[in-house]
Amino acid sequence: MKLHLLDLGQITADEGWFLEASGASTYSQPAPPRVRRQLQMIGAVIEHPRAGPILFEVGGAPNARELWPEPVFEAFAVTGYARENRLEVALGEAGYELKDIKAVIIGHMHLDHAGGLEFFRGRDVPVYVHEAELKNAFYSVATKEDFGAYLPHYLDFSFNWQGVSGDQLEPWSGITFYRTPGHTPGLMTMRVDLPNAGTFIFTSDLILLKENYEQSRPQGWLLRDHRAWWGSLKFVRAMAERTDAHLVFGHDPDVFAELRKEKFYD
Ligand SMILES: [Zn+2]
Repeated sequence: MKLHLLDLGQITADEGWFLEASGASTYSQPAPPRVRRQLQMIGAVIEHPRAGPILFEVGGAPNARELWPEPVFEAFAVTGYARENRLEVALGEAGYELKDIKAVIIGHMHLDHAGGLEFFRGRDVPVYVHEAELKNAFYSVATKEDFGAYLPHYLDFSFNWQGVSGDQLEPWSGITFYRTPGHTPGLMTMRVDLPNAGTFIFTSDLILLKENYEQSRPQGWLLRDHRAWWGSLKFVRAMAERTDAHLVFGHDPDVFAELRKEKFYD
């Protein structure tokens, strides 16, 4: 089994989305400066001996500027998306073509993690996503109760959706999904146990940045269920400490840059 990390571009947005109380005014500082943070969009391709090359998350759509509603792009501007960040080019650098991919796993369905499903439209590749997440994504767009986080362009019947149920599933040996809600109701953390490099834990946006994890600091405006988030954080922390895992957070650019110093892990 072999794992490559993929650089799928960068987003820049107000830190208040990611860290609780960032930029909040206080008695002594009634007008604090606002901080904008650059976030990394991340994918991973895992060459599994039985399942074949599988892909964890797909980043945003290549034409986000056209597809994302203006207020969404204003809030979460895609500020880095060069040719090498396109999914098929990033895969190509790792030695794969789109047509090699046997399955796609989506940790959660927000537009910057599932929008790149455009690359798989009409390809009949199974797309694994938690049942609760798929339902919530459709509901959120249909009712407009969380419109903008999910977008309609990839929420249709032209993909080979495979719902994951329950709290835990090991579909292929050494690859396990855990339902870890908080950021969204059906977010799946993925654990990959590699023979030499050890355990990798992909948190998707349960943990956006290392501050969420290292300082136990909840997310800001992107948090949907505070209580569930704490439970999921403690679950992932216990697993990471038990296995001495490499943690790949949803968007942390520094953690990603450090891990990307290795071309691949096996
Ligand atoms: Zn995200």
